[in-house]
Amino acid sequence: MKNFQLVKASSPQSAVAIIAKDTTSKFIAGGTNLVDLMKKSVSTPNKLIDVTGLELTKVEALHGKTRIGALAKNTQVAEDDSIKEKHPLLSLALAAGASQQIRNMATVGGNMMQRTRCPYFYNTDMPCNKREPKSGCGALKGYNRMHAIFGASDNCIAVHPSDMCVALSALDAVVFVEGPKGERQIKFTDFHKLPGNTPEKDNTLERNELIVAIEIPDNNFTKNVHYLKVRDRSSYAFALVSVAAALNIQNNIIQDARLAMGGVAHKPWRLVEAEAYLKGKPVTEANFNYAAQLAMKDAKGYGENTFKLKLAPNSIVEALTIAASKS
Ligand code: SF4
Repeated sequence: MKNFQLVKASSPQSAVAIIAKDTTSKFIAGGTNLVDLMKKSVSTPNKLIDVTGLELTKVEALHGKTRIGALAKNTQVAEDDSIKEKHPLLSLALAAGASQQIRNMATVGGNMMQRTRCPYFYNTDMPCNKREPKSGCGALKGYNRMHAIFGASDNCIAVHPSDMCVALSALDAVVFVEGPKGERQIKFTDFHKLPGNTPEKDNTLERNELIVAIEIPDNNFTKNVHYLKVRDRSSYAFALVSVAAALNIQNNIIQDARLAMGGVAHKPWRLVEAEAYLKGKPVTEANFNYAAQLAMKDAKGYGENTFKLKLAPNSIVEALTIAASKS
């Protein structure tokens, strides 16, 4: 690993001021992704700005919304009573992520900032447009079992690995960031980006901006929710496909629905057409099947990941069925 300087930020503003002065610097909190990348020389910052001392760890139930500090740990949020009560989908998704040890270290902001990636990204002997722009994509015609079926480009077919972010996308969260011009807000669904011609960029955050919090508006998705994660082993494995499903059901009629998928795209993949179809429909297997078909309309396989074209709609139907059955 390359030597680096470690400095401690005393406020979000000071963290932003330090990073603005040094283009080779990076923020660090839990370090559960960045340190791995540094060990493999995929990321080589000269300076790390330690933000762990900042007062950004609270989970607060405010009027009409819940605010979660960017430095709240994944375990802390998953086990928070107000999150379990008001946003159980988020609690379920967080508990499905990584391993207990990683959840104890990883922060909400860091979870969002983990790299969209595939195994070739870590292998500096292989081409990877994300690691080294214009070098090629080893996965396009190589090992691509874990890769995207939605929104990919010929430049990158990697998927965003977070479970937490799938739930936050479904829950219409808002991201609050601090930058040189002060604070701004980004809709969670706009935070992560598709690869297009710039696969080296995972999100719409500017280099000298710091995530300080996310907010989730109150909603009626407090009972009929499920996070389904299909993976090769039951812990410490990325999703082959995951589904965040939230339904508001009254007298067997779906008043409102939220659906998002993980493991299928460069960003958490929101299923807006399927959500719109389900609204006002009775809870039936046929309606869940049709919603899943709508969701799969633009899906495309790349060889080894073609099995996801069947796994994904089956997972949508299963997640909706389990969510609807909760009483
Ligand atoms: Fe790199 Fe993306 Fe291709 Fe993987 S899929 S090798 S991360 S460019």
